[in-house]
Amino acid sequence: MEFQEQTIKIIIDESKCPECESKACIAACKTYARGILILKDGKPAVEGDAKRLGTECLACEYECRFRGKGAIRIEAPIPGLDEYRKKHGIS
Ligand code: SF4
Repeated sequence: MEFQEQTIKIIIDESKCPECESKACIAACKTYARGILILKDGKPAVEGDAKRLGTECLACEYECRFRGKGAIRIEAPIPGLDEYRKKHGIS
């Protein structure tokens, strides 16, 4: 599943969640943000308006990587980055 906050997109590979014992993403969202990630049928689900309530803190991705199963990927586009890299010869 995936959902959008103000500027970032959170993509969760739910196939990895059933065997995750920590469910660390849920606690991370409660601790560091507004708790929009809840546990539903053993998997994370979004409760509420993520675009309005999401804080873009990235805590779920971090916690999932280190305490979960590495199921969360966050896309955080930075407008102008490609042009900047080209201009400065950074690949
Ligand atoms: S921490 Fe990661 S693997 Fe575990 S339930 Fe959350 S998203 Fe799924």
